[in-house]
Amino acid sequence: MVANEVSSEQKKLYGFAAKLILEFFVFLIFLVALGYFIHAKMETLMNEELEKVVAERAYDVSAVMGAKFSSERLRLQSAAVAIEKGTSPEAVISSISGKGNDEAGLVALDGSVVAGASMMRSNSQQLGLSFQGATVTTYYRGFGIIMSVPVYDGENIKYVLYSRYNDITLFNLFSKGKMEKDAVVFICNRRTGEIVMSYDDSAHGDVFYDDKNDIPALFDEMRAGIVNNDATAKYHGELADGNFVYGADIKDTPFMLVGYIPWNKVAADIMSIHYIVLWVFGLLLLFFSIFTLYSFTAALKAAESDELREARDEAERANKAKSDFLANMSHEIRTPINAVLGMDEMILRETAEEGTRKYAWNIKSAGETLLSLINDILDFSKIESGKMELVESQYSLSSVLNDVVNMVHYKANQKGLGFHIEVDKTLPDSLFGDEVRIKQVIVNILNNAVKYTPEGSVTFKVAGEKLDDGMLELRLSSIDTGIGIKEEDKEKLFSNFERLDLQKNRNIEGTGLGLSITLSLVRMMGGEVKVDSVYGEGSTFTVSIPQRIESPAPIGDFTRRVEEAAHDCRAHHDTFTAPDAKVLVVDDNEMNLFVVDSLLKRTKVQITLCGSGFDCLEMLKKEKFDIVFLDHMMPDIDGIETLHRALDMGGEVARTPFVALTANAIAGVRDMFLSEGFTDYLAKPIDSHALERMLMHYLPSEKVNVIPAGSATEEEADDAGEEKTAPQGDTEDKEPMDNASETANDYGGGTEIDVATGMQYSGDMEEMYHEFLKMFCARREATLEKIEGAYNDGDWENYTTFVHALKSTALSVGGVRLSEEAKAIEAAGHAILDGPAEEKEEKIAFIREHHENLSAMYEAFHEEAKKRFPEVVE
Ligand code: ADP
Repeated sequence: MVANEVSSEQKKLYGFAAKLILEFFVFLIFLVALGYFIHAKMETLMNEELEKVVAERAYDVSAVMGAKFSSERLRLQSAAVAIEKGTSPEAVISSISGKGNDEAGLVALDGSVVAGASMMRSNSQQLGLSFQGATVTTYYRGFGIIMSVPVYDGENIKYVLYSRYNDITLFNLFSKGKMEKDAVVFICNRRTGEIVMSYDDSAHGDVFYDDKNDIPALFDEMRAGIVNNDATAKYHGELADGNFVYGADIKDTPFMLVGYIPWNKVAADIMSIHYIVLWVFGLLLLFFSIFTLYSFTAALKAAESDELREARDEAERANKAKSDFLANMSHEIRTPINAVLGMDEMILRETAEEGTRKYAWNIKSAGETLLSLINDILDFSKIESGKMELVESQYSLSSVLNDVVNMVHYKANQKGLGFHIEVDKTLPDSLFGDEVRIKQVIVNILNNAVKYTPEGSVTFKVAGEKLDDGMLELRLSSIDTGIGIKEEDKEKLFSNFERLDLQKNRNIEGTGLGLSITLSLVRMMGGEVKVDSVYGEGSTFTVSIPQRIESPAPIGDFTRRVEEAAHDCRAHHDTFTAPDAKVLVVDDNEMNLFVVDSLLKRTKVQITLCGSGFDCLEMLKKEKFDIVFLDHMMPDIDGIETLHRALDMGGEVARTPFVALTANAIAGVRDMFLSEGFTDYLAKPIDSHALERMLMHYLPSEKVNVIPAGSATEEEADDAGEEKTAPQGDTEDKEPMDNASETANDYGGGTEIDVATGMQYSGDMEEMYHEFLKMFCARREATLEKIEGAYNDGDWENYTTFVHALKSTALSVGGVRLSEEAKAIEAAGHAILDGPAEEKEEKIAFIREHHENLSAMYEAFHEEAKKRFPEVVE
């Protein structure tokens, strides 16, 4: 498909290139035609100008010739005057003979030659005219020009004096006044066109003589041209390589001058018009080529941006498909996980067999990991598609911190890490914001701290700064002593799916989505995330979020509040039975029905299970229920449609509380369900506590028998004791601890181990507590060795750190006494390091006194653990 697209894209491009090339050639032809036209036009115009120039020159030459004729005439007339005055004719004739002419003579009226050369007979007509008083110039073919003047004797004409110019003398006389070197000049008879004097250069003459027929025609043209002008010229492109033919009248003679001159001799100084046209044409061509190239690249770019646009549209379509897919999958995957985790919970509740419990515990742990992974991907897709919304309300900061600490403390301890909490006592407790997302952000950075810290500790620090206008800049920091982040990796930290230092981290689970989600959420809340890290030493992630202060009452001593909250939790967690209550559960998935059924078994409510919306409506017609749990996504009619139809029934049915069950935990879903008419909403996987609380809340109080803790029957107490924390989905209101004190009764007595405390820190999960206990005992030697080493070296800094770690790990497995001892020693250690110098000795003495106790108590704890949990601890 991609290949096809590419080839169609290429085809488009080829088509485009072909069009451009065609356009280029069309324009080229146009240019050539234009060039030709301009050339022709310019040539004509120029030749017209040149014709004028040539005519003017011809005129000048003819004027020179005319002047020569007139001077010859004057010479002859002066000679005649000399004879008239008595100079002997012989002397006069000899003086004028051979001076320009070839001979001269004097004729008497009777035709006899008085002196000089004799005339031919044909001249008699001309002589006759001179005897009548005229000065006559005539040309005789093969003989030359005869110029004749009368010679007077008083009033009468006695003789005629004449002078002859043969071809040679004529040429000598007149060629001097010819035009440019290459011009060819003839003298011809103006009336007959007969050539009187020809040009002697045969090479030039050939032009005409080769095709003699042309000459009369050309000269006739000149003679016609002279009628109105003294001179004329005409360009003849067909003559040789182009010649101007010209003609000019020779004044006071019967002759005219004609000739021709090559074009290039006349236009020699003017740049060749061909070159001008070529130059202009070339310039145009250059411009056009540049234009074509430009438009080609512009079009290529346009085509490319078309391609890019298509690619972007395609990518957006793909992204939408991905988001839809993820949103659908979230539902499709969460539903079966719900079933798996619910069933697994049943196994954990109902079986005492160790092996089975272990497998079930593993399923639970893997299932929860899977669920959190899906939640991450879902969040990511929500953020990407802009569907992530904040749900803000008033909340208690201490309860948020409490939940977070419960989630992370266990993980840190399980890994053998110290977990410290530092909460500014003056922070206001009641804030306004999205507590679910704040929790998510803190858990993310704290979980990362635990994940990427192989040893040492994680410190959770909560501080804040009051801003103006009733806001608090809440600052939540996770400080770890982990692997740290390289400087060059820092900018990649918050990218989607980006994981760093893969070599080192290949065994650590993760998607690389956590921080990018964290950053997006924090930004949505108007805050920022800061990272400080030294590679190999540890990292500090600080999240700052502005939150509105609802009430200025300070949070106080948080550690104490955590304990109180835990205590409150336990105090309020009463079990109940409601044998008269009728509960209808509607879900198309049998597993889910089974899970709810099992979870509610011990409440003894009367449960009716339904597989579809239609069945549900039938049931509602037949029976009255106290509460209906209605799945959202069902085939045929979904939960919302079913609810609408049920509400339409009116009466009792319409007054029944309907609780939506959904695995689709999209932001704003609660509001959506409420606006559709549901009474409440419960997220899947179902939290057993939340389910029970929901029943307690919505069942008519007269049907609920509350059993206060302590007054429970043997069986019920056992049930309560075995109860485990439900799967952690996106449940917002889970109770972190319950029944720990009851559980404590199950184990034999002892002074070192307070099982209740241990269970509390193990999320009330016996299996987990056992694991933890086992690990704590197994690490005894290694831990004591480290403490001993530091003690022997007087390395109080490390000593304090190690004892500090022991303080928290001991507490988390119920080693209250050991923890207290460690706490006292740790305090002394801090005093040595940071306290006044004068107390130092005293504190060292205190440690010397108590140091031995520490290993003794650790050992005592181990011994007691072996006795009380023989299957667990070796
Ligand atoms: P992951 O699912 O891989 O933990 P995150 O987005 O939460 O994804 O973190 C991205 C990467 O940043 C992690 O893969 C890890 O390399 C690094 N990282 C995050 N937190 C820490 C930390 N506290 N110390 C060291 N590296 C960390």
